[in-house]
Amino acid sequence: MTTRADRPQFELSSDAASWIALQDDACAHRKPLIEDHHRDQSEVIRENTKRAVPDEGHSRRKGQDMRYYFLIDADDTLWENNIYFEQAIHAFITFLNHSRLAPAEVRAILDDVERLMGYGSANFTRSLVETYRRLAEKDLQDADVQQVRQFGEQIRSHPLQLLEGVQETLDYLSSRHDLVLLTKGDNEEQKLKVERSGIAECFRQVVVVPEKDVAIYRKVVSELQVAPQQTWMVGNSPRSDINPALAAGLNAVYIPHPHTWRLEHEEIQNAGAGHLLTLSAFSDLRTYF
Ligand SMILES: [Mg+2]
Repeated sequence: MTTRADRPQFELSSDAASWIALQDDACAHRKPLIEDHHRDQSEVIRENTKRAVPDEGHSRRKGQDMRYYFLIDADDTLWENNIYFEQAIHAFITFLNHSRLAPAEVRAILDDVERLMGYGSANFTRSLVETYRRLAEKDLQDADVQQVRQFGEQIRSHPLQLLEGVQETLDYLSSRHDLVLLTKGDNEEQKLKVERSGIAECFRQVVVVPEKDVAIYRKVVSELQVAPQQTWMVGNSPRSDINPALAAGLNAVYIPHPHTWRLEHEEIQNAGAGHLLTLSAFSDLRTYF
């Protein structure tokens, strides 16, 4: 449920002149391509010790001198997302009120169903209904199924809430670097969220992909015509944002979110040549870049 799709297409301009001209524009004046795919001073938690950015002073100087590409995740990196799914799951488990299964056991079954259903709130709603069909201890009533469906459908009704410091940090970063929003999930749902966010213009491109894996990261840097070592992936998910990006040779900024979807958890593995920064807040990017 961090994000809970058509193959990507990239339509980057090959016109270097227009590319450079865009770079000088302020964030608020940009119009991004939306791809139709299917705390201030140093809140750093830890840096990769193997090939870490050596120290804050160095990285600040380096960041100020160098222009990077940033691929930035959206759900639970730029705005709240999974917390709404967690609220729906809590309401569902309470409503189910199973006589023998503990909440954690119900949750584990729901996780299994979700792995089969895919991302997005519509698939999540189907997962809730399917789990209810499997576990209900009484004959299915239309009204009960409808109630379960509503737990999922309510997720879309929440106003989109940017995480603290996101707007200012995007304003800052977009004046110095090239930003691409890279999100996975249901194409229409993710595009709608981007439009509602009010920050789309900070990005050179918005790219929605069905899955974030090593191949996608390689394709993105290839289409952007940028070297992996000049590119940073920023996100909250070890499984989707950090590990595959590092494996593709990119650098990564890991910003944990306390409510990251369980299915996105994974041990961080930096076997590649890239740098790994772990920050406690999105706004800390300003310290390093
Ligand atoms: Mg995310």
